[in-house]
Amino acid sequence: MARYLGPQCRLCRREGEKLFLKGIRCETPKCAITKRKYPPGQFAWGRGKLSKYGVQFREKQKTKRFYGILERQFKNYYLKAERQKGHTGENLLIMLERRLDNVVHLILFASSRKNARQLIRHGHITVNNKRVNIPSYLVKACDVIRPNTSEASQNIVKSNIELVKSRNTPAWVDLKLDVPEGVVTQVPTREDISIPVQEQLIVELYSK
Ligand code: SF4
Repeated sequence: MARYLGPQCRLCRREGEKLFLKGIRCETPKCAITKRKYPPGQFAWGRGKLSKYGVQFREKQKTKRFYGILERQFKNYYLKAERQKGHTGENLLIMLERRLDNVVHLILFASSRKNARQLIRHGHITVNNKRVNIPSYLVKACDVIRPNTSEASQNIVKSNIELVKSRNTPAWVDLKLDVPEGVVTQVPTREDISIPVQEQLIVELYSK
């Protein structure tokens, strides 16, 4: 699967918001958006007010970047969300929130979504006692997420938890950090999703 390999902080500066792409560094004064709160690029200062299309486009880019996925995959999620019952924007966000890499990050097993993706790809995470190495796996109610039983996996996850244990954890996962283990009690609802996104703007963009 293709992935973005460029500078992470540039993405936050482009969106004008913290996207928390670099783990623990994002919570320190070293965060680039604290030091340089202006968009990247030579002509950043000359850009005027965004058009309606521009606002919608930026909202879509921000959401993609939060979850660390690229355009084609994002569009596929949108098309799936459109086919489901209910509000397309909400369906889209709920699907993104259910991605295993996002959940592993939210339950503190990894310091960032990128770090979570790496753990999953390297086989350090199990779901229902089976190794799952697909970051886009969508968790469902009653799924039990644990580090692999190997000592290396246990140690990596435990040291990540130590690093980020002061963060909030999702209400829809029953988390036991001492085991460590996360049980998905229910599929998240829109209210459970804390990222600052107006999904309606994404729907308007794709409906053109
Ligand atoms: Fe974004 Fe984190 Fe870089 Fe800050 S440190 S700009 S939040 S990726």
